[in-house]
Amino acid sequence: MTTTPARDVAARLGETFADYVPSLEGRDIVAIRPSYGLMIGGRERPAESGATITTIDPSTGAALSEVAEAGPADVDAAVDAARGAFERRWRDAAPRERSKLVFRLARLLQDRAREFAVLETLDGGKPIRESRDVDVPLAAAHFFYHAGWADKLQYAMPGMRARPLGVVGQIIPWNFPLMMAAWKLAPALACGNTVVLKPAETTPLTALLLAELVDEAGFPPGVVNVVTGAGATGSALVDHRGVDKIAFTGSTGVGKGILRALAGRDVRLTLELGGKGAHIVFDDAALDQAVEGIVDGIFFNQGHVCCAGSRLLVQESVADDLLGRLRRRMELLRVGDPLDKNTDVGAINSHAQLVRIREYVEGAVAEGCAVHQPQREIPSQGFYYPPTMVTDIGGSERIAREEVFGPVLTVQTFRTEAEAVARANSTRYGLSAGIWTEKGSRILWLANNLRAGVVWANTFNQFDPSSPFGGIRESGFGREGGRQGLEAYLELTPVRP
Ligand code: NAD
Repeated sequence: MTTTPARDVAARLGETFADYVPSLEGRDIVAIRPSYGLMIGGRERPAESGATITTIDPSTGAALSEVAEAGPADVDAAVDAARGAFERRWRDAAPRERSKLVFRLARLLQDRAREFAVLETLDGGKPIRESRDVDVPLAAAHFFYHAGWADKLQYAMPGMRARPLGVVGQIIPWNFPLMMAAWKLAPALACGNTVVLKPAETTPLTALLLAELVDEAGFPPGVVNVVTGAGATGSALVDHRGVDKIAFTGSTGVGKGILRALAGRDVRLTLELGGKGAHIVFDDAALDQAVEGIVDGIFFNQGHVCCAGSRLLVQESVADDLLGRLRRRMELLRVGDPLDKNTDVGAINSHAQLVRIREYVEGAVAEGCAVHQPQREIPSQGFYYPPTMVTDIGGSERIAREEVFGPVLTVQTFRTEAEAVARANSTRYGLSAGIWTEKGSRILWLANNLRAGVVWANTFNQFDPSSPFGGIRESGFGREGGRQGLEAYLELTPVRP
């Protein structure tokens, strides 16, 4: 029944089988089935139409599995199952029971952390070091954190009666498939909602494995339903008259379409959309540390990061020095097999995304920009793109304005703080920004003036479930994480003292 030979995976990981998971010696590390159905009402079933989509390993281009493609009838069945579970079981479940189950889910995820990490890397192309050290632990942390809130909602919202919304449709992208599923499911479940989750078409496998853990944890059937498919499946979920809320993470273009589709309907909406984050380096910054932050900000997860620091703004007086250090650091980045623990930059998630990245960089050259890429070889099979730095930017070029969503950094210089802020804010997005300076007063002034939902100082890409994350302007609205993240899943009404 498995299609992924465990020993091949172990070899690519550079480990003997026994090193990897001693308890699994003689069995497969990751049991990827040849096909997967939809998870509706606690049962796995094929799409009514019989349609499937193939999910592939982007590091080789080889097929991993066939996954059901849900149509409107399947979405209807999933929403029905979620409604039934909400009204009969979950809405009135004791808060401590919800807390216990969400906690159990976190523990189960931890127990199978390595299996999830390998599956995430195989299906999405991200380096195993990242899925092992970031994606899976952070996903578990979100469940732990929200398990703690489930029986303290009254405390979280003083003076308010907090009630769940009902059935929530959740649509997630392919860049952090497991983590986005956790960011969505954990608060929704802790607050007493039931869910229909729609993973991205190129990365459905960890969400489906997570659905198995939901069952194992003991959630009532129908509390979590997973409908796999592409944009049409997501659209059917948005259009369904039985959902009380849509939580969407993805591109700004699709987010705007969802906003239009829901106009005039009594459906709550949160949108976590794209970004074009500025990374601002001043002349007093610790430059080597700034270089590490810049590298992490744009090359982590191949730059498939909504809050990536994709626009470097460097103070003119240190620009040559900083860019020299950055070029030398880029030479050291290893682009290759995502399952190799020494890999820094893995595979681009899909062929379509690879084509998009190439077009952006070719377009930049046509518009007169200079492109720098390290001389190291990259694999010839699979979807790979080298770490790239684009200079000689005026600001009006397409690559300077639009989200590339790849390992591509644009560079501009500035002279004054005011100029840095003006450049950083000259985008329609407003998700993230990074500041590198030793001066505290400057950090505070910039943080107040940058139009971004998240601002990091002398660090980048720090995430914690207790810290609300989200954007402004065309990066969306609503927050995930922290007490603010709970509000998105609750009906709050004032209570009289
Ligand atoms: P996408 O918008 O193409 O797809 C996202 C999800 O929406 C997928 O599951 C897709 O199948 C579904 N979808 C596509 N068309 C739809 C439609 N018409 N109706 C309903 N659902 C539809 O985005 P993507 O390419 O998968 O993801 C990359 C984007 O996500 C980037 O723009 C990135 O910045 C953004 N993102 C944002 C955050 C955040 O927290 N702000 C986090 C991760 C990714």
